[in-house]
Amino acid sequence: MAGNNRLSDLTNEISRCRICCDRSITNPLPHESRPVLIASTKAKIAICGQAPGARVHKSGIPFTDRSGVRLRDWMGTCEKDFYNPAKFAIVPMGFCFPGLDAKGADMAPRRECALAWRRKVIDAMPQLKLLLAVGIYAQAWHIGKRRKRNLTCTVAAWREYLNESEAPTILPLPHPSWRNNSWLRKNPWFDKELLPVLKKMIQVELK
Ligand code: SF4
Repeated sequence: MAGNNRLSDLTNEISRCRICCDRSITNPLPHESRPVLIASTKAKIAICGQAPGARVHKSGIPFTDRSGVRLRDWMGTCEKDFYNPAKFAIVPMGFCFPGLDAKGADMAPRRECALAWRRKVIDAMPQLKLLLAVGIYAQAWHIGKRRKRNLTCTVAAWREYLNESEAPTILPLPHPSWRNNSWLRKNPWFDKELLPVLKKMIQVELK
């Protein structure tokens, strides 16, 4: 119960966070903050992505976009389970939509967010067994110096991270965005070798 209260106090605090809206900082958010995350003291699996996109900023629900459809397909998970906090925590590297760059692409997750909240949120979920590090930002934070020279090499080394003894087990994944379609075509081992293991691990943790 104490853990539950601690996490719910923390998520309440995050829901009021306006760190990135402060007009005195460099490049404040171009919109009001809207942190989108699902933290849980029950889930055994955490999905750690980048940051909400424009659609998720509107819906207030993580992965209500094409990336979510692909990610659920990778995981072999239905929507009902995916949004069940007893099964999955969804904690991106930046909790608010960071806005678009000049080319119309999503900006990087706000650095301020992980600095302010990440350690506290992860520490408040000690029951986690599996952490999916989706994309370079989550890999930088959760794998740190043990990352390889780029995302492809880090994801290709997935077996190495599974063999580490520290909990939670970390599995690196590319971002499921359509922008990574060509990466997926160039790296067929991801579909053939890694995804079956991911699906199996999820089944095991959800039992
Ligand atoms: S991105 Fe994170 S730190 Fe920035 S306003 Fe949103 S919750 Fe706060």
